[in-house]
Amino acid sequence: MPKKECEEALDRLFEYMDHELPEDQLQRIGAHLKDCPPCEAEHRINEKIKHLVARTGGEVAPEALRDRILVTLQHARGDAAPDC
Ligand SMILES: [Zn+2]
Repeated sequence: MPKKECEEALDRLFEYMDHELPEDQLQRIGAHLKDCPPCEAEHRINEKIKHLVARTGGEVAPEALRDRILVTLQHARGDAAPDC
């Protein structure tokens, strides 16, 4: 059940990562990420994507990369489809 704070944090995640928000919002979102494992996980995935994209010179579509990382994470958690 996503709370309002989660919505805000996820909505502004990229701005947060680029420090493109006013200081009070950066602090609020930072505090929320510490308190909220699902949002923190999302934050970590996006940080990873950002680093990978930076390493490839931005030539890889973030969406494609994100899908691949999410699939990898799902496999790591044992959520793989039962028929595979
Ligand atoms: Zn949250």
